[in-house]
Amino acid sequence: MTSEQVTDRLGRQLKDLRISVTDRCNFRCPYCMPRERFGEEHTFLPRRAFLSFDEIEKVVRASIPLGLEKVRLTGGEPLLRPDLADLVKRLSDLEIELALTTNGSLLRRNAAALAAAGLTRVTVSLDALDDDVHRAMSDTDIPVETILDGIDAALEAGLAPVKVNCVIRRGVNEEQAAKLVRHFRGTDVTVRFIEYMDVGRTNGWTLGEVVASGDLLEHLRGEFDLIPLAAERASDVAVRWGHSDGSGEIGLISSVSAPFCGDCVRARISADGRFFTCLFASGGHDLRALIQNGANGGNLTAAIAAIWERRADRYSELRSEETSASALPRIEMSYIGG
Ligand code: SAM
Ligand code: SF4
Ligand code: SF4
Repeated sequence: MTSEQVTDRLGRQLKDLRISVTDRCNFRCPYCMPRERFGEEHTFLPRRAFLSFDEIEKVVRASIPLGLEKVRLTGGEPLLRPDLADLVKRLSDLEIELALTTNGSLLRRNAAALAAAGLTRVTVSLDALDDDVHRAMSDTDIPVETILDGIDAALEAGLAPVKVNCVIRRGVNEEQAAKLVRHFRGTDVTVRFIEYMDVGRTNGWTLGEVVASGDLLEHLRGEFDLIPLAAERASDVAVRWGHSDGSGEIGLISSVSAPFCGDCVRARISADGRFFTCLFASGGHDLRALIQNGANGGNLTAAIAAIWERRADRYSELRSEETSASALPRIEMSYIGG
């Protein structure tokens, strides 16, 4: 089967798989896992429900004949999964790009092993440089310094360039944007600003809390001389802007104000092995059951191809305040993987 044969109903290929390796996290970012909903009484997946590394490898191998180019390990907090470097090692032989998204708190102690195992890229989520704002955004006592040290560890381990993802919430951290750009200018770190999205049903999202990328850019251009840069790949979600003196670039991810569903080549797999064709899907396809019922590589490839060929998702293009407030069940980001 060639990659041309597997396109969804809108002509999009499957190139990018985001795999959540745990639904647990040591942070409680209110926009993702608000503490009042993810407290002591919350039932996380039992660890025995997690896809094993063996099963994850099977899914990735089965997706490669469909044109898969990239795997991103995410969560929850992926570095809470013991021995993650062992998974990276298994996947590193498959000649695909292998990336990790992490909150950075455990990166110092893991970066060298991950790099040695064959990780190609790391993205660190960091919403503020000031500890009080960071605490408001992430509801953790872990200081910003620890995350910055984790980023340094990744750079030292050879994982440059590192991307920093920053979600902006109006009235909470928008004044941190310029501070982050200033801080990372001239380094091997690219900051990307993400519009706050209505993922899941627990974060109480309102459109009013979204700072549109266009407004943020205007604000940043008040201080920095930014020039537009060409996209590296059509499926890249970030629009790139560079410092005119060549001292680095930033990215803007306009998931709400300028959705990019038309180029969306991503699928997501939850920690318990459900395959989702959209971040806003209300249901997933149980690949773990297929594997445990003995599906071999070819069966699994065919099953994933069949799901992909039925796909017509374009939630963000259809989004409105009305759809967002609707009673449709929606999967939490910490479960499906950001
Ligand atoms: N725990 C890891 C981390 O924070 O990087 C990986 C998982 S987290 C769900 C992946 C990404 O999703 C993070 O960059 C986070 O900021 C982003 N995210 C979570 N909830 C979001 C929301 N409501 N809107 C926009 N981005 C969100
Ligand atoms: Fe945890 Fe990442 Fe969600 Fe924050 S965004 S609660 S760090 S999974
Ligand atoms: Fe892709 Fe769904 Fe996001 Fe659109 S809303 S970009 S289809 S994940």
